[in-house]
Amino acid sequence: MRHIAIIGSGPAGYYTAEAAQKKFGGDVRVDVIDRLPVPFGLIRFGVAPDHQSIKAVSQRYEKVALSDNVRFVGNVAVGRDISIDELLDLYDAVILATGAPNDRQLDIPGANLPGVYGSAAFVGWYNGHPEFAALNPDLSGNHVVVIGNGNVALDVGRILSKTAAEFEGSDIVTHALAALMQANTKKVTFLGRRGPHQIAMTPKELGELGRLTRATPRVGGADLPDADEDALLEPGLRKSVAHLRDFAAIAESDRADKTISIDFDFYAAPIAIEGKGKVERIIIEHTRLDKELRSHGTGETYSLDCAMVISCIGYQTPPIDGVPFEHGRGRFANLEGRIMSGLYCAGWARRGPSGTIGTNRPDGYGVVDLVAEDIRQGGCKAGRPALDTLLARRGTKAVTFNDWKKIEQAELARARSGAPREKFTSIKEMIAAAG
Ligand code: NAP
Repeated sequence: MRHIAIIGSGPAGYYTAEAAQKKFGGDVRVDVIDRLPVPFGLIRFGVAPDHQSIKAVSQRYEKVALSDNVRFVGNVAVGRDISIDELLDLYDAVILATGAPNDRQLDIPGANLPGVYGSAAFVGWYNGHPEFAALNPDLSGNHVVVIGNGNVALDVGRILSKTAAEFEGSDIVTHALAALMQANTKKVTFLGRRGPHQIAMTPKELGELGRLTRATPRVGGADLPDADEDALLEPGLRKSVAHLRDFAAIAESDRADKTISIDFDFYAAPIAIEGKGKVERIIIEHTRLDKELRSHGTGETYSLDCAMVISCIGYQTPPIDGVPFEHGRGRFANLEGRIMSGLYCAGWARRGPSGTIGTNRPDGYGVVDLVAEDIRQGGCKAGRPALDTLLARRGTKAVTFNDWKKIEQAELARARSGAPREKFTSIKEMIAAAG
């Protein structure tokens, strides 16, 4: 029998569990350990609440979770309830699939002013993450600046711009929906430090901006390269740039009935955020690109008055004491998934925050192949029963998948009209619902 512990119950965690099942059949016991009492990580807390079809992938993870040899061990935090060394003593393989829930730091003066939020906090707030549910961002200003030209920036800009009717069918938490409907937002500006050909926004998601009820995108035609140059782009990016060209062609008369403008500022690097006790403006430096397409400041600056700045410049994996870490890339130091004897990583914790949810599938299968090579003869560790003994000795009560199903039932039962669920936003409420 092989005993495998997977830390993290998001996409990388469950694809890895699925791979372990396929590889070892009945000859494996997998414990998927999560610090929260609820599973699915990024699917629940990262994917936008108005993108329910993407969240449907959790049904596949549920099938894995409900099988006999895979167990969910929720509400158990590595570093708090159990250490990596202890897990390595108990399991033949420990696989870190902890994702990248922390923000990459915005390293400019004023980044700590009230009114500046990282995307982890802002997205966590509208998705009901227990750590950020009480964020209570001040949405009374007219102008929100969103730093970054990736899909997270796009999610944030869209969520700030939708009407109540456009949230129909979403599972945005009620506190966030209520606050957004009271907001005074008139303008959202995306700051891209490079140009239209360097955006990391995918076409399907970017296209949505052109179909919003009360908001309309604005792209300055002068920022767009010659249309002939689009032919050199890979097809997905070419489609995204086609959307930007469509946005640039929107006539002023078609903006008349829109109350929110979503502006794209390209070649625009934030260099400081200013204000007395809170954000009042952001200072931006124009950039130009070198041959390697890296951006450099031109020395020419401008400022935008704004009451809120949301930094969507990428995520990083939280380091764990004693586990080698690549600080520059915000992920565990690893060779194709191997960190050290018995310790592996998969998904964003292995390669950094990139790709789609499905990209984590080959990652999970790959790491299980390595585990199979390393423990060919079958394992020799105590596994599950020993974990249970240790947790019981510490008074840590794990949440099982059946407990989660009770939490889920309670969330479905209390959904507001038109919403699939109303998430619990505190660990206490979740545990109470689990009974
Ligand atoms: P991302 O795709 O890496 O985008 C980060 C953006 O931040 C880039 O435009 C980057 O510009 C910019 N940036 C980085 N450092 C900066 C700085 N110091 N100052 C100004 N700008 C800076 O990251 P993400 O948006 O967080 O997305 C993470 C992953 O999740 C991606 O794979 C994304 O596609 C995926 N995702 C998908 C969806 C979906 O609906 N399909 C939704 C959300 C997220 P440079 O290019 O110049 O570095």
